[in-house]
Amino acid sequence: MRTTILFCLSLLAGTLSGADFVITISCDGMGSSYMQSMMDAGKMPNLQKFASEAAGTTNARADYDITVTLPNHVSMVTSRPILGKQGHNWKSNTDPKKGQTLHPANGITVSSVFDVAHDNGKRTGMWATKSKFSLFKVSYDAEHGAPDTTGPDNGRTKLDQFVYETASSNVTARFISDMTSHPCNYAFVHFGEADGVGHESGWGSDAYFNALMNLDACIGRIMNMVKTDPLLKNKTAVIVTADHGGELKQHAHPNNPLNYTIPFFVWGAGVTKGDLYRMNKATRSCPGYSRPGYAAKPQPIRNSDAGNLALSLLGLGPIPGSVVNAKQDLRY
Ligand SMILES: [Zn+2]
Repeated sequence: MRTTILFCLSLLAGTLSGADFVITISCDGMGSSYMQSMMDAGKMPNLQKFASEAAGTTNARADYDITVTLPNHVSMVTSRPILGKQGHNWKSNTDPKKGQTLHPANGITVSSVFDVAHDNGKRTGMWATKSKFSLFKVSYDAEHGAPDTTGPDNGRTKLDQFVYETASSNVTARFISDMTSHPCNYAFVHFGEADGVGHESGWGSDAYFNALMNLDACIGRIMNMVKTDPLLKNKTAVIVTADHGGELKQHAHPNNPLNYTIPFFVWGAGVTKGDLYRMNKATRSCPGYSRPGYAAKPQPIRNSDAGNLALSLLGLGPIPGSVVNAKQDLRY
């Protein structure tokens, strides 16, 4: 009897959660307009297919105040704005100093998607292509991660695996090898190539568009893994978004639509395809060309929705202290 009840409960939990594995892919510097023009030209066929099968929008927003890489990535994994009382307040976009973490100095830790997943017994990992992402490795290591007070003690190291590889193709190969041999229930993959090329040759340059094509090939390899690996197949959801776009050779101005307009797609297990704004009329509002602040109601869809969305896909509750998608009401 007891076994039957437990079996039924676990079946129900499986139905509700939708995915056993979630992969968040951040395409550094992939502004929506550039991505859309490449997809329209048939030059990003993998992402085009992904988008056609996903719940998504090309009109999501970066953080309101700051459109640079590291602070926006902290927002993606903490589901917080960058600035303000409820923000994570990590503003630096350079390599952290040795031992520096994103936690404030008062002993409080800034909770993340890694904390919630790991405290619930899930395996977590990050594969990144910029050295400054060591911020996450150090902030969530055995010394700086928060004690686990949820269920069995899974320890303070919230990131089971952290990989740094500069080239997109190398990080993809490493990620696929790791995911198929010892999969993470929550995995974050960062591709920095398009941003690097954008700073060198300009957003919209031939070199930038070539970088987007490389990125498309990497996404195709990850999609193929998700569709064919016996363990991941039909049990994996993938989120694709970006930290910011860019114009000319930079993306510093948060009031430039080319900087703040980014894609946000979710695809795979448990996801219904469609337009995310149409699916979320009561809680999210398509911002047109505007740049709504955090007081605007309803909010636009933001890259910082990703943390709590991933947990929702895994059937887990929101990140403590989070603000964006804290009710996990983003439907998909
Ligand atoms: Zn950049």
